[in-house]
Amino acid sequence: MEGSSTELSPSLSKTSVSENTDPQKDGALAHNLIVKWSGKEIEIEDINGLKTVRDLKQLLESKTGVHVDRQKLLNLTYKGKLADDDCVLANMSLKVGQKLMMMGSLEKDIRTVDIPPEDRPVVNNDFDIPDDEDLPIENREVYLNKIARRVKEYKIEVINPSRPGKKLLVLDIDYTLFDHRTTAETPAELMRPFLHEFLTAAYDDYDIAIWSATSMKWIREKMRLLGVSSNSAYKIAFHLDYLAMISVHTPKYGVVEVKPLGVIWGLYPNYSVKNTIMIDDLRRNFMMNPQSGLRIRAFKSAHSNRQSDRELLNLSGYLRKIAKLDDFSKLNHRKWESYDEKSHSNKRMRSQSGSRAGPSNPKR
Ligand SMILES: [Mg+2]
Repeated sequence: MEGSSTELSPSLSKTSVSENTDPQKDGALAHNLIVKWSGKEIEIEDINGLKTVRDLKQLLESKTGVHVDRQKLLNLTYKGKLADDDCVLANMSLKVGQKLMMMGSLEKDIRTVDIPPEDRPVVNNDFDIPDDEDLPIENREVYLNKIARRVKEYKIEVINPSRPGKKLLVLDIDYTLFDHRTTAETPAELMRPFLHEFLTAAYDDYDIAIWSATSMKWIREKMRLLGVSSNSAYKIAFHLDYLAMISVHTPKYGVVEVKPLGVIWGLYPNYSVKNTIMIDDLRRNFMMNPQSGLRIRAFKSAHSNRQSDRELLNLSGYLRKIAKLDDFSKLNHRKWESYDEKSHSNKRMRSQSGSRAGPSNPKR
């Protein structure tokens, strides 16, 4: 069937969580696909009328504006290789509701790369709590109960065993390790600089966990595309997805979804506030554990910031220094950039000999 792609409506379907479709369900009338591109999820309602990969790309061009030639469907494979445009969709055993990840820039975005960053509008839809404001800590029973329920029911995706004596590093993905909104031709262009060096160095002292407010499927896919899951220099211990998060009500910010470390600590007794650090570009994610959270600068506009961003390199040094401490609960991660190793090692020696030295942790 030729030309049927133009009959479909070019409306964009945006869904933040569309994980309820059963990809195994077969025999449905309409064979739909989800295509994730630039932070959006685009639903192709029915691929039955499309013959080849090129037809699918033409439909995607009508829905996204990204030229067929610029599109890369990263996980669309045929016989183990990236499918070329002439591949016949019917031969590719695509599952109903299968999710594809698309890379590709709009022509207008390619042109604006040449414009200095100051001239571009800053779009920031990610609500966060300002740095100078204390997080509204909520240790109310209702939240502790929610955490207890996650500990009991949530299935962490274990990749590698936890190693005795290691500390724990919990990492966010979007805007922390990866710019998921900027369009690009390859995943490497969106990867935060020094990612693999950072993870390799951290792995010496820390077990590494990934926690992202998306589904497990996307976490796996992003880790694969970034080359994290296949890197031989380090290993990821486990993944947590949005289902491990809890919603917390705060008078000032309303209901927010947060990542409570208690879920991990309940499942792994060897990790605690003393040896865990969580890195995220949103402070609200560690609302339940402000002491353990370090807010990293968001990595956005990868095409213009790729050359200058050294955040992971610098953080690597900090993680290395604090790894020598027995207790992270006295640290102030807000001041990580001016961390003085000497004063803390002194403190550590004194506290080991029994006295509580140094400024006490401010009560919030
Ligand atoms: Mg993030």
